[in-house]
Amino acid sequence: MLENLTQRLGRVMKTMRGEARMTEANIGDALREVRMALLEADVSLPVVKDFVAQVKEKALGEDVVGSLTPGQAFVGVVHEQLKQLMGEAQVPLALNQQPPAIILMAGLQGAGKTTTVGKLARWLKQHQKKKVMVVSCDVYRPAAIDQLKHVAEQVGASFFPSSPDQKPLDIAAAAVDWARKHHEEVLIVDTAGRLAIDQAMMDEIKALHAQLDPIETLFVVDAMLGQDAVNTAKAFNETLPLTGVVLTKLDGDARGGAALSVRAVTGKPIKFVGVAEKLDGLEPFYPDRMASRILG
Ligand code: GDP
Repeated sequence: MLENLTQRLGRVMKTMRGEARMTEANIGDALREVRMALLEADVSLPVVKDFVAQVKEKALGEDVVGSLTPGQAFVGVVHEQLKQLMGEAQVPLALNQQPPAIILMAGLQGAGKTTTVGKLARWLKQHQKKKVMVVSCDVYRPAAIDQLKHVAEQVGASFFPSSPDQKPLDIAAAAVDWARKHHEEVLIVDTAGRLAIDQAMMDEIKALHAQLDPIETLFVVDAMLGQDAVNTAKAFNETLPLTGVVLTKLDGDARGGAALSVRAVTGKPIKFVGVAEKLDGLEPFYPDRMASRILG
């Protein structure tokens, strides 16, 4: 059984009773518990180290005031730090621009991009009454285009056809043109993913980004990747001006640590989370709820 952060801190708080201040000596055990709990939640090691160092710095600089015990004050510092790292509020999509508002999807193969395109189209139709069109620029996996077509049918989004013998940039240009002429309000562009970071993939999505000039560039990442999510996030964030992250497969036994790591490494808000395989399984991301999931 995993022990969550709250349980771990509860235990060490007892040993900190009666102390008048937080000191290197009396917060040592508590910092170790924070470190263990975050690692168990699959937060990446560099992010954990950074987090613990900041908690330590803040705790030592803080006076224990009023009726608080050092233990309570320490927990307060941890909560505050977690909130700061995750971002305080839900960050919505920015789609208010001359239509079509273009959303570019980026991520590794299997991350859940195509599924998320369908979920997002459904969500935008349902919650924002948008007319949505989708297109696939994945010309490498023939099944990818069919998969998107099927998903689009299921959610009632327009589907712009493409084929593996076309160039991604040509597909994108034609899709934008069509969307503009047919008054589609949002155009979601699915892209090719690879199994690992690959220069050709990065060059291609960079070129797509330059041509499309999307209002949203969303990085889709599998929460189950845990610690590995960090390297992927870093590479995509360095290649593209990401505007947000979609964290998929949170319905699995992912412990949420990827949320903390990806947010810390990219500095970009997580905008949505995938919470089921089905096309209604997408929710806006609420940092405080995720903080609670990690805290337990
Ligand atoms: P892509 O290669 O990035 O386009 O990934 P796909 O959209 O094909 O998704 C890969 C697999 O992950 C599929 O089996 C999806 O059904 C599944 N998937 C995507 N998002 C979620 C999610 O939020 N929860 C669950 N349980 N499965 C998901």
